[in-house]
Amino acid sequence: MGICRVDLKKEVNDSYDILIDESLFGDLAAGLKNKPIANAYAIIVDSNVGKLYGKNLLKDFEDNNTHAHLITFKAGEKSKSRQTKEKIENEMLRLALGRDTCIIALGGGVVGDLAGFVAATYMRGIPYIQVPTTLLAMVDSSIGGKVAVDTPHAKNSIGAFHQPKKVIIDLNFLKTLPKNELINGLAELIKHALIKDVNLFHFLEKNINKILKYDLDILKKIIKRSCEIKAGIVAEDEKEKGMRMILNYGHTIGHSIESALGYKISHGNAIAIGMSYAAKLSAKLGFLHEGSVIRQNNLLEYVGLPHRLSHHKLKPKKILERIQYDKKMINDRLNFILLNSIGDAFISDKVALEDIKNILEE
Ligand code: ADP
Ligand code: ZN
Repeated sequence: MGICRVDLKKEVNDSYDILIDESLFGDLAAGLKNKPIANAYAIIVDSNVGKLYGKNLLKDFEDNNTHAHLITFKAGEKSKSRQTKEKIENEMLRLALGRDTCIIALGGGVVGDLAGFVAATYMRGIPYIQVPTTLLAMVDSSIGGKVAVDTPHAKNSIGAFHQPKKVIIDLNFLKTLPKNELINGLAELIKHALIKDVNLFHFLEKNINKILKYDLDILKKIIKRSCEIKAGIVAEDEKEKGMRMILNYGHTIGHSIESALGYKISHGNAIAIGMSYAAKLSAKLGFLHEGSVIRQNNLLEYVGLPHRLSHHKLKPKKILERIQYDKKMINDRLNFILLNSIGDAFISDKVALEDIKNILEE
């Protein structure tokens, strides 16, 4: 027998910077002209962001004599599909964009996940830059390289790990962001404080009124801290083999609620409810103080996030069924993220479905 070995041990350096400031967007095209990442740029936007910012960016590229195209799809989670991915790819092929193209994902989480996934597979992988325009995308989905589309079967079920070359967070985008979208992002931001940083939690409690009034100085501070937390976790465990799982705090129950309600609830609202049950469970199992549960839920409530299920008239049984479908379930036990205290999350494999059932029925 002849053996021929394909030796592929490799060292990769996928490190990248997250820039956070006001007025970064206006310098984006000029910056890329001075320090090019590619020969051509494909700006991918949804229909809302296209009107608000996409056209301006295309003009900036043109003013800088840089080859760029604007590719737009219909706004909404429904567009995060294999069909839209194909349409974007066809458009890029029609424009004869080659391997020397860089994608600019300008928009919220939907654009970031979809455009990032296009970048992961177009010509077997091209670079992309995340330019998040929602708070949720700024603090969460634009960092960490998880890119995907939804299928009728499940959300994010087809995707890849493909890290961006850069993340550019321009706080000015938040000025046009509707309040409900700000609140949606705050759910993930509060989550980062709860799992990793008690000081951030105190800061959020103290400054919540200013945050809800779009105070950009305060927003800059909390976004920066939130990015540091997410970046730190991703750097330790890029492919979610362990530690990265703590980012799923509130998400096991949250995802089940979203899916049981046919995604008619926002992600922020769903994980807020999920976090409130996860905190109650942490207390019941003897980890978290009751006082901390109340403190967490008070902040969620103040922000305008729900922390009870009854509003949505969803039976615990339905949620449990969905959790059982979850591929992470092993012998009736699942990896569940609990809190020891505010700012200190851990992965437990000792939570039984029965425990979750009891909490949901309380
Ligand atoms: P998420 O970031 O929560 O995943 P989406 O990508 O679905 O959300 O964006 C939420 C909605 O907000 C979409 O309709 C999108 O077009 C719109 N949007 C995104 N960024 C802005 C912005 N800066 N100003 C106004 N609307 C925006
Ligand atoms: Zn989430």
